[in-house]
Amino acid sequence: MATTMHFDADAGRHDNANAKFTQQRRVQCPSCGAVLSYQPDTRFTHARCSKCGSRFELPTCAISEDAVAAWLDEGEDAPKFVKPPEPVAPTPAAQQIIDAYSDIEVHAVKCDRSGVLLQFPSRLLMEPRFRLAMPRRCMQCGTRSHLEAHVIIFSSTLKNSVSLEAEHLAGKMTLAGEQAKLLAGQALLECLPRVPNVPPPADLPMPYWLCDMCSESGSVCGQYEPCENPAEGRCHLFISKLRRAEEFLEALGARGTPSFNLVAHTRGEIGDNPWDSLSLVVQNRLGQWSKPHEGEMFLGYAPDRDLARTEDGMAGLVLTNKRMLHHSRLRHHEVTCDDPLEIKLTTADGTHLINISSAKWSAALKLDGEGLVMLRRGLTKGMFRVLWH
Ligand SMILES: [Zn+2]
Ligand SMILES: [Zn+2]
Repeated sequence: MATTMHFDADAGRHDNANAKFTQQRRVQCPSCGAVLSYQPDTRFTHARCSKCGSRFELPTCAISEDAVAAWLDEGEDAPKFVKPPEPVAPTPAAQQIIDAYSDIEVHAVKCDRSGVLLQFPSRLLMEPRFRLAMPRRCMQCGTRSHLEAHVIIFSSTLKNSVSLEAEHLAGKMTLAGEQAKLLAGQALLECLPRVPNVPPPADLPMPYWLCDMCSESGSVCGQYEPCENPAEGRCHLFISKLRRAEEFLEALGARGTPSFNLVAHTRGEIGDNPWDSLSLVVQNRLGQWSKPHEGEMFLGYAPDRDLARTEDGMAGLVLTNKRMLHHSRLRHHEVTCDDPLEIKLTTADGTHLINISSAKWSAALKLDGEGLVMLRRGLTKGMFRVLWH
């Protein structure tokens, strides 16, 4: 892959006409002093001066949408349930408000189904209140229990913080559940390590949380663009779950700001895709017994509460817009939404005993309150033919 970018003679463009670019940047040739403008592109680490021909390193500030997209494409090979339709992009007017906004220094520079890209001056990291603003919930699935504290790694390019932990001495960058549970505020910050090999202030620990079932998720990415004047450095923070980004902005007092409204609006348009809020472990387990058919949309999963929480995904009910799947250790059943179903519900001590029978099979399982809500909603949404008892 090419790493040197060539400028053409009038120093304004380079010759890769097919590349998709967002904004021009200027750089001064270290040999002859010519000021050259170029389109930032993370594929290029070096440039050749069009005036004197010397080759030099480009500043590491080239964050592009492509960099986010490239990272998000990793591991997208498994069959997927169909996603709801893509929302419309923010109107130019909305974008102008975002661009002009400067009261709170955290801006949403990009927001869509894949997540939110926030930008802020790196000096904010020196404020403990800012570093403590991430919601105390799993960034992937939203649970408040079994949480581990991780620190955001602001590297020179936007990268998944969890995958970077390995490069930064695995195990040293997290606080396990038992230890983390008792800590909050300043005490928490003091127990977290500074991030090695990252220039200050981006090395100061900023915690975020993942549950024990979501430890491999790439839900947070950080990037730091240092500046000669350390007060002017810039950070990018990518948060994949819009609801978590909203909570973060809210904790910063940004409710009602254009950035907050953009995130809330986008989330409202997309709707919360129920598949996305499952932990990766559960997604993988469900993938083994609920392979989506062509054009099928996932409506929800209700775990069988006869099994422990750590076994979520191994048994229970999956509803799609076309089928209901029941899975247990011993059996697997399916019905389509056209098959008549009978469901008998008995509630005792907060758990719901469900007996499902179709023409071909019957099954019994235990659901919690959330599971029952999912079942009712899913059956309605998928227009199943159900008779409740
Ligand atoms: Zn030159
Ligand atoms: Zn989780």
